[in-house]
Amino acid sequence: MVFECSSENIGTTKGVNCCMNVSDTVTRDDFYKKGKELYGEDFKNWEFCCSFCGFKQSQSSIVTIMQDKGFHESMRYGQITLDNIQTLKPSIETECLSKDCNFVAYGLVPSTFGKYGGMIVDGKYVFKFAKEANI
Ligand SMILES: [Zn+2]
Repeated sequence: MVFECSSENIGTTKGVNCCMNVSDTVTRDDFYKKGKELYGEDFKNWEFCCSFCGFKQSQSSIVTIMQDKGFHESMRYGQITLDNIQTLKPSIETECLSKDCNFVAYGLVPSTFGKYGGMIVDGKYVFKFAKEANI
C-alpha cells in the first residue's frame, strides 16, 4: 500500500518511502563548509536537529548535560556517561539522543525524514543543522 505524502503522514511511519523532507543534497566538502559557517571550526559545537522530534543536539550540549547531571538519558542508549561515551560513540548527526525518541537518519529503508527535514551528504542521510531546521 502506498501512502500519500500528506501533512498528517509526515514524521510518522506511514510516511515511509513518500515523506522524505530533504532540503539539501550536498557533497561532504559543502557539508563541512556549511557547518563551519554556522558553528565554527570545532565539530563538537555543531548542532543538529532530529528529523522526527526536533531535539537539538551537539557533542558539546550532550557533554554539558552529562557534566551537570552525571549522565544523559537517551532512549536509544540509556544512560550515557562520560565514562561510557567513548564506547558507545553515538553519532550526533544521525542518531537522536533524546530521552523520548530513538530516530536514526539511516535505517533499513531509505530514511524518512520527518517534519524537521534532513540532508543527504555524499549519499549518507544526516540530520539538518539546527540553525537551518524550522523549529
Ligand atoms: Zn528525535
